[in-house]
Formats: sequence, C-alpha cells, structure tokens
Amino acid sequence: MTDPTPLPFEHTYAALPDPFWRAVAPTPVAAPRLLAYNRALARELGLDEGFEHEAEVVLSGNDVPANARPIAMAYAGHQFGHFVPQLGDGRAILLGEVIDRHGQRRDLQLKGPGPTPFSRNGDGRAAIGPVLREFLVSEAMFALGIPTTRSLAAVATGEAVFRDGGPVPGAVLTRVAASHVRIGTFQYFAAREDWQAVRVVADHVIARHYPELQSVQRPWLSLLHAIAERQAELIARWMSVGFIHGVMNTDNTAVSGETIDYGPCAFLDEYDPAKVFSSIDRQGRYAFGHQAPVVRWNLARLAECLLPLIADDPADALPEATAVIDAFPARFQHHWLAVMRSKLGLSSAEDGDEALAHEFLEALQAVAADYTLGFRALCGLADDHEPEALLALPKTPAMETWRLRWHERLARDPRSVQERVAAMKATNPAVIPRNHLVHEALLAAEQGDLAPFEALLAAVRRPWDDGPEAAKFMTPPEPEQRVLQTFCGT
Ligand code: AMP
Ligand code: MG
Repeated sequence: MTDPTPLPFEHTYAALPDPFWRAVAPTPVAAPRLLAYNRALARELGLDEGFEHEAEVVLSGNDVPANARPIAMAYAGHQFGHFVPQLGDGRAILLGEVIDRHGQRRDLQLKGPGPTPFSRNGDGRAAIGPVLREFLVSEAMFALGIPTTRSLAAVATGEAVFRDGGPVPGAVLTRVAASHVRIGTFQYFAAREDWQAVRVVADHVIARHYPELQSVQRPWLSLLHAIAERQAELIARWMSVGFIHGVMNTDNTAVSGETIDYGPCAFLDEYDPAKVFSSIDRQGRYAFGHQAPVVRWNLARLAECLLPLIADDPADALPEATAVIDAFPARFQHHWLAVMRSKLGLSSAEDGDEALAHEFLEALQAVAADYTLGFRALCGLADDHEPEALLALPKTPAMETWRLRWHERLARDPRSVQERVAAMKATNPAVIPRNHLVHEALLAAEQGDLAPFEALLAAVRRPWDDGPEAAKFMTPPEPEQRVLQTFCGT
C-alpha cells in the first residue's frame, strides 16, 4: 500500500511542551467504510478532490499521513459541578492543524480512534449513532449561522463497540474546530499550580483566537472579558433556535466561542425553559433556560485560573475578574434581546421589546406550543397573509392580545413589510434537526440504511426553506414519536 498523501498540516499545539499533550497513534480498525463526507468543508479546508478517495483510510486512523503529529490533549474539567483534575482526550486524537481558505487555523481531530493515555477505563471508541448525530447536528448549527465545530467525515470501523444496550457498530468522526482548547485546559494546569503553563495556554489562545489582544495593556483580563463576550453571544444564539447542549461541563466549553461536543444535545419541540433531554442530567443543571447561568459559572472557573496572571497580588485581581463575571448576565441579556428583536421582525429598539418577547414565550409555553413553528408563524403574520395551517399560532386569548400589541409595535418599525418578512425568514428557521427525526435516522443508519440520515442532513442544511419538500421535516412529533431522553452514548 502506498503512503497517504501528506495533508497541509501545521502543529502549533503539538509544538507546545509535552505536559500539554501525549503522543499517541490511532489504533487501526478492521474494515473502514466512508459513511459521510463533507465536500463543502473539504473545499473550505483546501483539501484537494483526490483526498476523498483516501478519506476512508486516513480518517479511520488506519494510515495517517507521515506529516501528521497525532496527539491526545490534556485537560481537566468540572463535570456536573465536580472537579476532575485529569480528563484529557480519552477517545480523540488531534492529527494536526490546517489553514483554511479564509486564513483561519483549524484542528483536524479524530473522535473514536482507539485508546489514548487519557482513556481511563474507556475503549477510546465511538458508536455510529453518536458519530452521525454529531455530524448532523453540527451541520445544522453551521447552516443556522451559529459558531460550531464541524464534521469532515464519518467512517464506519467494521467493528462493534459495546455500550449499555449491547454491541453497536463503531465509527470514527473527523471533527474540525477552530481549536480544542477548553476552559478545562486552563484548569488542568491551574490545578497543578503550574502558572507558567497557564500562561502558555493563554498566549496560545490569544495568538489563535484573540490576536487583537496581543498589544493591549492587560491581556489576561482582556482575554477573560473576550471569552465571556463570545460565550454570551453563543448562548443567546443557542436560545434563539431552541438548542440544548446537554453537557455544559467546563471541558465542553471551548474558549474559541464555538459550540463543541455534541453528546445528548437536542432541540426544543414545545417551548419549556425547564426542558432537559439528557439522561445523565438528573438535576436539570443544563436545562434549556439554565444555559446562560451555567456558562457564567464556567467562566468563573476560568477566571480562577487566570487570577495569578491578571495581577501579581491576587487581592488586586479578584475584584477585576469578578467584575467581568458579574457583567455576564447583562451581556447575555443584551445579545438575547438582539436575537429576539430580529426574530420578532424588529429593526429598531424600544423599551418594551424585552417584555414583548417574554410575553410571546409565555403565550407559547401556556399551551405547550412548538418553539420553532411559533416563531416561523410570525413571518407569515407579519405580512398579514393567511398563514398555512402548519404555521398557525395557538389561538388563545393571551396570544390574540399579544398579536395586537406586536402589530402595533411593528407599525412603529421603519422597515417595509417585504424587507421585514425576508429578514424574519432568514432568522426564524423552518427546519431544525428534530429529535424524533434524528432518532429515526440514526436507528436506520445502525441497521445499514443511510437514506433517512442523508435526507435529514440535506434538509437541515437548508433551514430557512419551507417549501413542500421541507414540510415533513418541519412537522413536530406525534405523541408516539416523541423522544423523551437523549444519551451521550460514550
Ligand atoms: P465527553 O462526555 O465526551 O465530554 O467526555 C468526557 C471525558 O470522557 C473525556 O475525557 C473523554 O475523552 C472521555 N471519554 C468519553 N468516552 C470515552 C470512551 N469511549 N473511551 C475513553 N474515554 C472516553
Ligand atoms: Mg467533552
């Protein structure tokens, strides 16, 4: 067999000293078979068309290019509030970084390529269901314009992995990320009181994600501020589409501001801020409406790691860092209100807008109305056209009252009806990856039928289309189709 073609790899993370990572080669698999390949992303990464033929061997980990430097990254993290000083990539191996067509550095990481020094008792593998789930949901998030890691390929391994329910087919996902540095990466070194290493990580993150901070007076304090700002915006964007991450541990909070680690994530059907799908989130710590407070908590953990860098005397650093964390709720609220205004079709700002948004949500919640279709219905109503039956708002007195107030408010907004409707249709998705459809698609894929997965993937890549071909992906689940719980499948 000939060696795979070298990829245009760079290795800035692997160039850091070895406490930051462990060298580890992927474990070859029995019979790699390409399940999904993301051509658009491959082009964006500057990979040539010939690479698709090698993807099966390279992205299963069976034969990595000679210029890859496979490593598992070290990190710690608070899992459901409990600190674990050593987690690390237990089933992920970074191959290297490539510079994409826009000049952005992106990590190429295999997820499920076999054990690493951080695997503890895990097998280092991934099952086909969770792999395709990440592929599908991350593509949906990207199409919705929400910062996210992406999926380049899913390769079946031809081997079984053993999970709670017994043997299931295995697969390897290639994840593409702006970086894989998490709050937990900082925590790993802070827990060891290795402040020099914390500084190295912080420098790496500034150079990579916040280069504008290289020349400011207080880089570490500014870094905390900048990471908090991206998180505030990210969570507002999640809330705008009904996304529930499900496992917002500090090791699953990327400092780049991308959504990362699609495990038991789910989208709301009916609106309920207390909604939890994840089977492991028994206390509702990561409920839909709790995501902003949780990120604030995670950011406070990051702040603790940065204190010794922020000022020589911790007594000086603490009030400054605390001020950033305390400002988070208002920053989140600012972004949330901005996305809500655009969802409601408002291009101007008035004091009553926040109440208007809350009252709409309350009217949806009162009758357990669908979150996505509720907002999408507004696009039709903003035009005063008779909306289609599927897109009707609940006909309750509260909703009727709200609608009148909203129409009065729209009348004071400067945009033309046409402009407004076009903007609303580009901000209120018609198609999201509904849990019951994801579930059906993954079940079929486990049985060897990829057609439902491919159809759903194509639909979620066009979230704003509500044409006839989209209708079956827009419909909320029938009672017997409802998915009540999601699992991480690790
Ligand atoms: P996650 O829930 O995916 O964020 O993972 C939490 C930690 O468990 C990380 O350190 C993972 O690398 C590790 N982990 C999860 N699944 C496995 C597995 N099958 N084998 C080894 N480590 C795993
Ligand atoms: Mg994780």
